[in-house]
Amino acid sequence: MNATSEKRIALVSVHGDPAIEIGQEEAGGQNVYVRQVGEALAKLGWQVDMFSRKVSADQETIVQHSSHCRTIRLTAGPVEFVPRDNGFKYLPEFVEELLKFQVENKITYPIVHTNYWLSSWVGMQLKTIQRSKLVHTYHSLGAVKYRAIDTIPPIATKRLEVEKQVLEIAERIVATSPQEKQHMRSLVSKKGNIDIIPCGTDIQNFGSVDRQAARAKLGIDPEAKVILYVGRFDPRKGIETLVRAVQQSKLRESQKLHLIIGGGSTPGNSDGIERDRIEAIVNELGMSDFTTLPGRLSQTILPNYYAAADVCVVPSHYEPFGLVAIEAMASGTPVVASDVGGLQFTVVSEQTGLLVPPQNVPAFTNAIDRILMNPEWRDELGKAGRKRVTEKFSWEGVASQLNKLYTQLLAKPVAQPLVKPLVKPLVKSVEQPLAQPTKKPALLS
Ligand code: UDP
Repeated sequence: MNATSEKRIALVSVHGDPAIEIGQEEAGGQNVYVRQVGEALAKLGWQVDMFSRKVSADQETIVQHSSHCRTIRLTAGPVEFVPRDNGFKYLPEFVEELLKFQVENKITYPIVHTNYWLSSWVGMQLKTIQRSKLVHTYHSLGAVKYRAIDTIPPIATKRLEVEKQVLEIAERIVATSPQEKQHMRSLVSKKGNIDIIPCGTDIQNFGSVDRQAARAKLGIDPEAKVILYVGRFDPRKGIETLVRAVQQSKLRESQKLHLIIGGGSTPGNSDGIERDRIEAIVNELGMSDFTTLPGRLSQTILPNYYAAADVCVVPSHYEPFGLVAIEAMASGTPVVASDVGGLQFTVVSEQTGLLVPPQNVPAFTNAIDRILMNPEWRDELGKAGRKRVTEKFSWEGVASQLNKLYTQLLAKPVAQPLVKPLVKPLVKSVEQPLAQPTKKPALLS
């Protein structure tokens, strides 16, 4: 193996295309994570191929992001959007296509980093078929998510099973916060190797503009008290809690409040339905004169929104990491967030913002008002937030930790596969697969 092929990696993100526009239905933190990790690894000398499922005939099959980093869209199932809960049945075809791509391009990935449980199934197949080392990031754990929602989807049993299996057999699991690691141990399995490497953010982009310059650019009143939400329209994001909390604010009568709810949606899709529902609540509560819904915000304009805000609110019911919180803190803006998941790791209550119980409207009102009423404290919290993100959550720092992890794993001998692949490869992998283990292996299904 030469130096280049040794530092070759596949990032698999079946449903979270790293090359698409962020902020709309099912496109959020995972897409940003994969894209940023990919680009940062390429700068560290890795050849990075990011695999996703093609969802429209208009999409290019290969998008070159930089000389050593590209997105490759594989055709698996219909070339159209498929909600992630319906995507499992197309995974064998995805594996076949990925194997075919390797053969056609004379590549074998010695290491595969998968994202979300669907991709972990693909990774487990590659581990078994061609002995790729497997690293996995969950982005969301079924065992936690299903506790926070009312309707459990039919795919839940399969998801929980796959999530347990990958924890136990991957070379390494990347938890993005100590809270996520603890959930894996208490709710999924005691077995398996877990490292904590957080998500990151672009500390050059976020934090590049000050409050008044950002307001001038966006046409926001310099005297207004600006409360910002950024993210997808999904009931689990808790936007309704934020709207009801702002309605109760003590500052409503005396101050110029401005509530901005940023994020994209498509009419008729689930995010469009949630957006309509939120807008109806805003109207019903008589808040439309000081609430704006600007739609999807590009990563280029976003630093202005974060900087313009007095407070950024992350009211999620459940949040495995929550990139929005660190983007706001990098921009010097305090965060009021639900006291859940990764937000407990990123936001230090009373130092970089405030943590409050999820779905608790009066607690959100009180926290938002405390920050809005004290501009000096707001600035202190903002400064401390920027410092925390610069020290702990830059993409460069995250990529260097991942680089170290992959390099260690590549140096280790390849283990015998523990499971038999479900997919019988139609195409032969470039490298010879291992002989089947003599003991009867457990099945993946
Ligand atoms: N985002 C964006 N434009 C929008 C809304 C969201 O670019 O209009 C980005 C946001 O900046 C963040 C990501 O989408 O990087 C959301 O990630 P987070 O982890 O907060 O939530 P998720 O979508 O993963 O649930």
